[in-house]
Amino acid sequence: LPKRRKISQKESIVDAVTKSSNGNNNMLVWFRSDLRTKDNPALAYALQKAQQQHESNPGSRKALVIALFVLSPSEFRSHDVGAVKVDFILRNLATLSETLWKSHRIPLIVKNSPSAADVIKDMHQLCSAYSVSDLFANQEYEIDESRRDAKLLKSLPNDHVEFHLLQDQCVVPPGVLKSKSSNSTYTVYSPFKRMWFDVVKKSKDKYLTLADSLSDFPAPVNSVADLESLSITHPDPIPDVLKGFELEVEKKRHLEETWPAGEVIALQNLDKFCSGKRESSGVTVYNDARNYPRLENGTSRLSPYLAVGALTTKQCIVKAMEANGGKLDTGSSGIVTWIQELIWRDFYRNVLVGFPRVCMGKPFKLETMNIQWLFEDDVFQSWCYGKTGYPIVDAGMRQLQKTGWMHNRVRMIVASFLTKHLLHNWQHGEKFFANSLIDGDFASNNGGWQWVASTGTDAQPYFRIFNPYTQSEKFDPDGIYIKRWVPELAGLKTSAAIHNPHSVLSAKELIKLGYREKPIVDHKVARERAIAAFKLVLGKG
Ligand code: FAD
Repeated sequence: LPKRRKISQKESIVDAVTKSSNGNNNMLVWFRSDLRTKDNPALAYALQKAQQQHESNPGSRKALVIALFVLSPSEFRSHDVGAVKVDFILRNLATLSETLWKSHRIPLIVKNSPSAADVIKDMHQLCSAYSVSDLFANQEYEIDESRRDAKLLKSLPNDHVEFHLLQDQCVVPPGVLKSKSSNSTYTVYSPFKRMWFDVVKKSKDKYLTLADSLSDFPAPVNSVADLESLSITHPDPIPDVLKGFELEVEKKRHLEETWPAGEVIALQNLDKFCSGKRESSGVTVYNDARNYPRLENGTSRLSPYLAVGALTTKQCIVKAMEANGGKLDTGSSGIVTWIQELIWRDFYRNVLVGFPRVCMGKPFKLETMNIQWLFEDDVFQSWCYGKTGYPIVDAGMRQLQKTGWMHNRVRMIVASFLTKHLLHNWQHGEKFFANSLIDGDFASNNGGWQWVASTGTDAQPYFRIFNPYTQSEKFDPDGIYIKRWVPELAGLKTSAAIHNPHSVLSAKELIKLGYREKPIVDHKVARERAIAAFKLVLGKG
């Protein structure tokens, strides 16, 4: 970003309390992927600045704090955000708006901006209409978002509006951790993780202190009379549905039930997961449970909340440490493993910032651009809708269709199947996931796909190819997960039949069950084809 006045998280903002030259003094908080009021640095700093401004000049008109969300269907489309996530964003926005308004009278304005260029124009117009002196937002690291912010920063009149970008997505912001040997961005997770633990342990206050919450500030923040002077009498209504992102009624109802929105729910779920009240689930048994997709609560299922920013990684780690007697990388092995999973979020954001080509449709390992991928639409569609004849793959894809979420173990299996067994470019899978997932997150999705496809940061050679049959036997031994999502196979009794029905049942029997008569590819043949295609480009690995 171009150099401009920025308030860093640790810097005191007292110095920044300067009234802008045109007499404006209101604070605008632009919510993006941070739909919460707790541990939200942008909101906390805006509130702090408004309060300090008032304290340093008690006679003056109190600065107002206004919240904003920009709804841009074209941006959703260009980032492959699908209806399931848009629905979740809208539902989280509604609860955010209510929380902001209820006790603190902070109105959430919803602006519809057709494109990124309109966003900049609209921001200028809003800053002027609401007499804004300070615009606050938490930083987004993807390339389009970074460019948008840079353009906005450059275009705002320097003496009228200050744009403050804060950091909230990572515990250790991207770019801070560099490989010791080459002083460059880490390309492999394990050394990154070791360095992450070292640095965070040494500076817990710096990295693990949560930002002030709304309730730390006196309520109400705004005076209703002052709001009226800006022609604001209430928050903008949040649409229930966005045109072009409609869901079937039944699916919407199911999503609302499965993934209720809001930071209160997110924090309750975090609390339940970390408090260890459940016997066969929860963070302390995470090591034993996390690889079994049949266990509903074997993992935290917090990813949707993290993806829309109803929750932060930092809140998760602080809570996990509380459950671990304050320890970060020792103590309960389940807790340490869970923290390590959260570190993947930091790692993939670090990769995104260090290697922006991954945001531009390029693989992390550039040499893999030469892989001769195949593409057959009917094959791809069979994968998308769980009709491959590989029960574990079909179960995963159907879970995704139905719930907008898929278990991590199964994400790895289906991604490996698409990229290795079917030799389809990981980008097709990445796009389909982004469109279908409620927890769609560019860095984690791109990182996950590339890791599995051997085009990314996986340190293992490309000939690691998940065997869907053995994965299925190992991680869904009783076939409970498969039977839940592939009801055609629910009546099968033997383990062999559940994991590999074609090895036991005749084509006639399978047709009768309504399942695929033959698997879409033969496992052995497909594996050899993949190894040959990768070997051509990557040599012996
Ligand atoms: P838990 O096991 O409880 O882990 C806690 C949190 O740690 C997760 O919520 C998540 O935020 C983070 N985390 C865990 N594993 C990973 C990982 N491998 N990479 C990055 N973060 C991780 N995760 C997303 O949040 N959004 C995505 O779009 C996404 N796409 C993926 C695509 C593929 C092909 C693969 C293999 C993985 C993908 N993941 C993605 C990572 C992982 O599958 C999910 O984060 C996890 O399944 C979410 O379930 P949970 O909240 O119960 O996780």
